[in-house]
Amino acid sequence: MKENKKYYHAAMYIRLSKEDGDKIESDSVSNQRDLIRAFIEQQEDIILCSERIDDGYSGVNFNRPAFLAMMEEIREKKVNCVIVKDLSRLGRNFIETGKYIENIFPFMGVRFISINDNLDSLQPRTSNSNLVVPVKNLMNDAYCRDISIKIRSQFEIKRKKGEYLGAFTAYGYLRDPQRKNKLIVDEIVAPVIQDIFRKKLEGMSADSIAKYLNEINVPSPAEHKRYLGLKFKTSFQMNATAKWTAAAVLRILKNPLYIGTLIQGKYTTPNYKVKKRICVPESKWICIENNHEAIIDKVIFDNVQELLKIHTRTAPKKEMIYPLSGLVICGDCRSHMIRKNNSTKDNPYYYYVCPKHKNGKGCTNHNIRDIELEKAVFIVLKKHIESILDIEEILCNIDRCSYTSYQLQKNNQKLQEKKKEYERYQKNKAQVYEDFKSGLLNQEEYEIYGKKYSEKAKEVKKTIQRIEEEINSFIIGETEGQKWISYFKQYKTIDTLTRKMVVQLIKQVIVYEKKRIHIDFKFQFEYESVLELVKSIEKIAISSKKEVM
Ligand SMILES: [Zn+2]
Repeated sequence: MKENKKYYHAAMYIRLSKEDGDKIESDSVSNQRDLIRAFIEQQEDIILCSERIDDGYSGVNFNRPAFLAMMEEIREKKVNCVIVKDLSRLGRNFIETGKYIENIFPFMGVRFISINDNLDSLQPRTSNSNLVVPVKNLMNDAYCRDISIKIRSQFEIKRKKGEYLGAFTAYGYLRDPQRKNKLIVDEIVAPVIQDIFRKKLEGMSADSIAKYLNEINVPSPAEHKRYLGLKFKTSFQMNATAKWTAAAVLRILKNPLYIGTLIQGKYTTPNYKVKKRICVPESKWICIENNHEAIIDKVIFDNVQELLKIHTRTAPKKEMIYPLSGLVICGDCRSHMIRKNNSTKDNPYYYYVCPKHKNGKGCTNHNIRDIELEKAVFIVLKKHIESILDIEEILCNIDRCSYTSYQLQKNNQKLQEKKKEYERYQKNKAQVYEDFKSGLLNQEEYEIYGKKYSEKAKEVKKTIQRIEEEINSFIIGETEGQKWISYFKQYKTIDTLTRKMVVQLIKQVIVYEKKRIHIDFKFQFEYESVLELVKSIEKIAISSKKEVM
């Protein structure tokens, strides 16, 4: 064998059928061809001799012109190798397909390769070389897994060709039929995703959200995918319906795709043969913001991410989460305070207490009744909302133009200052090195100072970027800047403290001794800058009046 190297004369076989529910894009003729060509390029012993395409022929039977022509070539010994993208290209009828793979091709001395199934008759995976096994597996396997493998190899080809490609089968999005590689919202399931986020904000766990969705018979992402991908008649039975699981719900809650961010390149595959996915470090992910229309508001998404971080331990039977669960912090030791009951049947009540306080030892107890705390939080929150509404009114009355130019001027000024600061640190860094070289500083000092200046420079650089972003958003004319006000505004008429409201507006509630509490609101930075702005505008107004006089 060594001395006489055998070459295989291959026919690539391509089939596409709308009837079969083939995804036009992923199964398109050119995609199949690209994949097979890329495969052959890597093979030393395969020569491409023939290209056979059945466009518009179902895979249910084998009565297809290009397929028959290929069989003729095999009989004429022009071809002794058949390559397909996946088994379903050869045929959809798995019993017939199995006959070809197991009997007909081996009998005719044909090497058969199905790239996505990792199947090569030359390299039997088991000693008895029973190739029907993978076919049977394919029948029994959840079809979606097969789809995912197809899509993955599609990704690789696209990336190699330098095309940009999104996760177009992600639940909630569809591929735009007009514009290639663009994601559009799947209107059928977008409300489901919004509902999931809403339920989470209201305090439900991922598990109970899954149960709820199953109860009201919402198809799970796997089911929906099947619905999208398998609108064709099949001769074999599908698996039982896949249900919603807590994991599926969590995957949705954590996926930034829903705020319009596309993350690419999280995993890589060494080659087509190794199906194992290798995780790519987060720093190397490709992150594209505002890539497509968002389904979830960014603020809601961020709130949910914070909620997911908070340990809200609830008793398995009791689903209820209290408005302040996980957000009450001890002012002295910064522990999360826990909600307890007083364990008397006559006069039962609940209270928050520092967990580090035990029998008069450790932290002081900071004991506060839940009703009292909730009431206090509610009153303060109401006041805060009122104050924000006042500010909004003032902002509305301010001349937009002068406001913008003032803000721009201020930001530019800040930017110049920061840039100078950055240069200074860079110079210092260089100086430290010079001093080290000349012997003024020893190794240790050099490292300490060098590190210090590097860190400072880094910090300033971040600030510079932030200011630049701000300036850009001003120039573009985004009103995003004041959007946070609407989050407070929506609760202006509310009369009870709800979990959703707390999660959206409050970072944490800190409880000190003697029932003193402090509330950390969200958007505090925005709130303070607007306050400052209002003050400065008043000043400008006063001074300009003086100038006129
Ligand atoms: Zn404490």
